[in-house]
Amino acid sequence: MPESRVIVAGAGPVGLVAAAALADAGIPVTVVEAEADLPDGLRASTFHSPTLDMLERFGVVGSLIEQGLVCPTWQFRDREKGVIATFDLSVLSADTNHPYRLQCEQWRLTRLLRDRLATNPAVRFLYGLRADSVRQDADSVTLTAMDDQDVAHLIRGRFLIGADGARSAVRKSLGIGFEGMTIPELYLTLSTPFQYQEVIPDLANIAYISDPQEWFVLLRTRSLWRLLLPTDANEPEDLMMSEARIEQRMQQVLPKSTPYEIRHRTAYRVHERVAERYVQGRVFLAGDAAHVNNPLGGMGMNGGIHDALNLAEKLTAVWQGAPLETMRRYERQRRQVALDVVQQQALRNRQILNQRDPAVREAHHDELRAIAADPERHRAFLLRSSMIQSLRDLEAVA
Ligand SMILES: Cc1cc2nc3c(=O)[nH]c(=O)nc-3n(C[C@H](O)[C@H](O)[C@H](O)COP(=O)(O)OP(=O)(O)OC[C@H]3O[C@@H](n4cnc5c(N)ncnc54)[C@H](O)[C@@H]3O)c2cc1C
Repeated sequence: MPESRVIVAGAGPVGLVAAAALADAGIPVTVVEAEADLPDGLRASTFHSPTLDMLERFGVVGSLIEQGLVCPTWQFRDREKGVIATFDLSVLSADTNHPYRLQCEQWRLTRLLRDRLATNPAVRFLYGLRADSVRQDADSVTLTAMDDQDVAHLIRGRFLIGADGARSAVRKSLGIGFEGMTIPELYLTLSTPFQYQEVIPDLANIAYISDPQEWFVLLRTRSLWRLLLPTDANEPEDLMMSEARIEQRMQQVLPKSTPYEIRHRTAYRVHERVAERYVQGRVFLAGDAAHVNNPLGGMGMNGGIHDALNLAEKLTAVWQGAPLETMRRYERQRRQVALDVVQQQALRNRQILNQRDPAVREAHHDELRAIAADPERHRAFLLRSSMIQSLRDLEAVA
């Protein structure tokens, strides 16, 4: 007999949000995580307003705010001309309990959720087991997971959520296509304690800085600034990541007489892809397993958390007797958001930043200035960029 549980592959933000919502509904959950502990790599650092509203139910938002940096404004800048437009999220105070972006590392959320889940006896964590393949029949799912000795373990449950990240073994095992493209440049992320706001006039804590030669993004967290730079993928990795080369790039962004202190450095490939299906029988994909996009706009983790809660709500209904067909609406709603909102907005942000044609650049900048100056357009723009609008539009999807 299958165990009467939901299996969640992957203990990232998406898997743990889904697990927490299911566990709160009284559903037993087994979380299967490939690593020996929760990953703590530097990835997402932006929580958008509706994501914080959604996370309130788990009692973790106060702690995230304490550990993070509340950012009511963010801006587009031009490298030469300075501020193009500053957007003020306080105009959304009637739309959200959190009219700001919270800059806080995603690993802080996963730790808070894990600690909360650990107090629930119906939740099991299996670390060091890598999901490998999936079989299912009319009543159950069997996940085969490998340990570090390559010994196979069979984990059975009634349903499986594949939240095992962009290279999802669950998605691959089901043969679900992941169409899209790979961005030609790599993204280099560097963290430094240097306080950019002390030397760059009127700098908001989140700034997208366009330039025809080299755009970049500056993101402030509680103690560090993070710099994101596009990087030629043909540059040999040992050169790209060397002290001298990184110092040279930092000095190009902002020359100063002393060297920069670098706390973290990472370079990664960026893809824009959406899975052809999110639902296959009793198996469901969410988060990066279902969609990936460039990090400009900070929609990957946020959109994944929105998936997780939508999925958990429908799966709870199915657990309580609704037809399995109910899950199709999860796919229709969340896949449409990935295709129409997340991908489009991330692509547009990149186009604005790296536009080389001077006339098109100027037109983009004029448009941003006009939006910021018009209260109605300003609010509508922020409803979209904060992802509130995508959640409101879902209701219309049958
Ligand atoms: C540098 C960077 C900056 C980013 N900035 C932002 C941002 O500001 N805002 C934003 O919204 N998004 C951002 N993103 C994207 C964001 O990090 C991801 O969208 C988010 O991590 C997705 O969460 P997830 O839980 O779906 O997947 P992941 O975070 O990748 O978690 C997957 C989990 O599954 C585990 N796993 C993997 N394979 C297996 C397996 N076979 N079996 C079992 N477990 C497995 C992994 O160890 C991991 O714990 C950024 C990404 C990067 C790389």
